[in-house]
Amino acid sequence: MRVDHDSGWATGATATWRGGPPGDDRNEAVCVIGAGASGLAAVKNLREHGFAVDCYERETGVGGLWNWRHTRSPVYASTHLISSKPGSQYPDFPMPDDWPDYPHHTKVHAYLERYAEHFGLREHIWFGTEVVRVVPAGEPATGYWDVTTRVGQRERTSRYAAVVVANGHHWSPKLPGYDGLSGYRGDVIHASAYKDPAQLRGRRVLVIGGGNTGCDIAVEAAQQASRCWHSTRRGYWYTPKYLFGRPTDQVNDLVAMLRLPLRLRQWVGQREVRRAVGDLTRFGLPKPDHKLYETHPIVNSQLVYHVGHGDLEPVGEVARFDRYSVVLRDDREIEPDLVILATGYLPRFEFLAPQLVAADGDGRPHLHLHAFSRQHPTLFVAGLVQPDGGILPIAHWQSVAFARWLQLRAADPSRAATFWTSIAGAPDQRFTRAKVADSTRHWFEVNHVLYLRALQHVLDELEAAR
Ligand SMILES: Cc1cc2nc3c(=O)[nH]c(=O)nc-3n(C[C@H](O)[C@H](O)[C@H](O)COP(=O)(O)OP(=O)(O)OC[C@H]3O[C@@H](n4cnc5c(N)ncnc54)[C@H](O)[C@@H]3O)c2cc1C
Repeated sequence: MRVDHDSGWATGATATWRGGPPGDDRNEAVCVIGAGASGLAAVKNLREHGFAVDCYERETGVGGLWNWRHTRSPVYASTHLISSKPGSQYPDFPMPDDWPDYPHHTKVHAYLERYAEHFGLREHIWFGTEVVRVVPAGEPATGYWDVTTRVGQRERTSRYAAVVVANGHHWSPKLPGYDGLSGYRGDVIHASAYKDPAQLRGRRVLVIGGGNTGCDIAVEAAQQASRCWHSTRRGYWYTPKYLFGRPTDQVNDLVAMLRLPLRLRQWVGQREVRRAVGDLTRFGLPKPDHKLYETHPIVNSQLVYHVGHGDLEPVGEVARFDRYSVVLRDDREIEPDLVILATGYLPRFEFLAPQLVAADGDGRPHLHLHAFSRQHPTLFVAGLVQPDGGILPIAHWQSVAFARWLQLRAADPSRAATFWTSIAGAPDQRFTRAKVADSTRHWFEVNHVLYLRALQHVLDELEAAR
């Protein structure tokens, strides 16, 4: 049975339903929220495991943030993958051999469209349909979910056996609360509103933030702006995209296979970055105040180059904004006319009550493997990780685990209950051995090898329980 969106619609949340009882009972079907890279993997893998699936996507096409025509997409004209091709693709759907190591965002989007086409996923996706509420069905909860979707002003509720949330975590800007920011007379935008170098041309630009996006935009400003400052709170390791002529993540993966202790890996990695990039302080950049892998990796071959050419001026942390200037912590005053806040994103699940994902006071969800709700065995989140590699392979294996778990639950409830006890009782795990800095940027930081090993362990347990 397919949800028929042409009948049974109600207008507004309180309207009465036409044609039958409130909402559709979709029986054992699974609802997937979002048709980005994670949602697509979920639709495909759940279908392959025999589940009926309805996927709701509020935009008009697949691809999530890689579809830069979508208003909420944080992708800018020059965005290329930061993780290289082999680690960025789904394990069962390789990117074309003749594509470069780091494809452009339009290629990543084309790849996701091809994936949807190849596996026939579109017919399971309802585009232009936003999920506005997900509540456990029944009192006490039955394990089923009432999912309310909205198209325009019209809402509709359908009942599902399980829900996979794949709504992404790079679309809701995290905005800093600098003193004086609201009274500042220059232009201020968040990086999510940065699309094209034309926005920078001939202007005096301050880019705030040392993440990959901040570094990418600073590099573009170095080439387009009349003057560019790049403000970071600390010194970072700027890892080049290539080491020894190979994509750096591929070199790291080779080193990871040696299973060296973290300290030795850090020593080797730092030595190689220093050898490739040199002494950062010579360029006026602050010395990294932490070891490699203790912050999310910054992969950028051009930042140091442009600093060396005098087109990009590294500055320290911003202290406050005055009416026409920005005051830095070292009391220096600069006068940009455009400030770009590359200050990151926060996860948002406004359609779910916070307790369903065990969100703490800061809004940080606490899920087993960043994926399984401990409160509800039929609620999952896909793609809520910040790996030191590609997200797509992780989203793939997460959704295989969701599907196998749901299969076990249907086939053998008592074995499933035993398995579930181990998940629900397990404390939060860290999937990195490094002492990662405590910030929202690292809430979901995972070493992809450790994380995939933990997922493999879950899959092995599920296999054994079958
Ligand atoms: C600049 C940049 C560079 C990146 N580079 C890399 C890289 O090199 N390698 C890598 O692996 N990852 C990279 N990423 C991470 C990126 O998030 C993942 O590649 C991938 O896009 C995650 O897919 P997703 O499906 O989890 O989220 P998204 O792509 O954000 O998709 C989520 C989807 O859910 C939909 N949605 C949200 N809420 C609702 C709702 N209530 N109802 C219906 N639909 C909803 C959205 O419209 C969207 O289509 C990068 C991210 C950015 C911002």
